[in-house]
Amino acid sequence: MAKMIYADNAATTRLLPEVLDAMMPYLTEEYGNASSLYGFGQTSRYAIADAREDIANCLGCLASEVYFTSGGSEADNWAIKMVAAELAKKGKKHLISTAFEHHAVLHTLKALEKQGFEVTLLPVYDNGVVRVEDVKNAIREDTALVSVMFANNEIGTVQPIAEIGAVCREAGVLFHTDAVQAVGHLPINFKEMNIDLLSLSAHKFHGPKGMGALLCRRGLRFGNLIDGGAQERNRRAGTENTAGIIGTATAMKLACAKLDTVTPLIQAKRDRLIAGLSQISHSRLNGDAEKRLPGNVNMSFEGVEGESLLLYLDAKGICASSGSACTSGSLDPSHVLLSIGLKHEVAHGSLRLTIDEDTTDDDIDTILKAVPEVVDRLRAMSPLWEDMMKREKEGN
Ligand SMILES: *Cc1c(COP(=O)(O)O)cnc(C)c1O
Repeated sequence: MAKMIYADNAATTRLLPEVLDAMMPYLTEEYGNASSLYGFGQTSRYAIADAREDIANCLGCLASEVYFTSGGSEADNWAIKMVAAELAKKGKKHLISTAFEHHAVLHTLKALEKQGFEVTLLPVYDNGVVRVEDVKNAIREDTALVSVMFANNEIGTVQPIAEIGAVCREAGVLFHTDAVQAVGHLPINFKEMNIDLLSLSAHKFHGPKGMGALLCRRGLRFGNLIDGGAQERNRRAGTENTAGIIGTATAMKLACAKLDTVTPLIQAKRDRLIAGLSQISHSRLNGDAEKRLPGNVNMSFEGVEGESLLLYLDAKGICASSGSACTSGSLDPSHVLLSIGLKHEVAHGSLRLTIDEDTTDDDIDTILKAVPEVVDRLRAMSPLWEDMMKREKEGN
């Protein structure tokens, strides 16, 4: 069996050994409760305080603006539902977001619509980038919140977050960003970008699963997520996941420290993949070529069924995705690919490869050899493709 090539880092990433090492003491000897007064509990308390400080340094926020959660989905739910509840009291029941958000945001908005909120979903056009003008024009007297993701999890497009932040601040509207795909992969400054609320998830930057955080600007009034003890400044009760918190901070520190050096290397491999796969006939790159995450490749191949493509690649030891892991298993085409104007049948033949620092040049060569082989093979079996070719010939 050939070595496995993991090219699905947007779904989750490998826990780094350094991160596990940093977590280990808190899973074993250092089990004291951070809320206890004796010295043994204080060790955990101080470690958590340091972790908060490290995260604040990486993201340009205050330590007191960091609230730990169980992951990105929880942070998204918390930010949007609690702001909505708070501002509804002032009669503001209009929410603005985009058509291609993660389901943690979209389904939260759906739930709020059922409670009487009005939601405007902005278009993302064929390049997968939100227009700042559209945000500006959509803001109304009764707008409570704008929520735009930092970078898309399927097509990797990076949004003009600082510009949207400026527009929102000017209009006096709160701004949330789901930055789960961006933290640890792009430079972020919470304060300078005028962000009020930011969601992140540790397992997307080589930290542990089940850990995330919501950054919430100081002074912003919003409700508690879990009532109970005084943890997370009374806003999210429950004994802290000390090891998870230490793992999150360690992974983030490592990612931020090497961001400048590894980004160009990953980008170069990404662009080699895109150039190579674009040689396949009737293929297209989904999402803007420049405004995209350093490790994201998303291509569509006409006349190919995405799920089959994945199974054949899996047989060759390549882990890839057809869209987001959350929707795979359903036969509906990805809402993200539809939002950038792809036809259903084209969206179905899509492949997402998300590489990182671990991906070697040999891995890229292997992928560049495997994908065209599999595409050819699937097209040879496809009545749809045969039809397409026949029609093309007749057209000529
Ligand atoms: C993975 C992901 C989430 C969900 O994060 P979890 O920690 O898995 O709950 C939310 N938003 C985006 C953009 C993601 O990629």
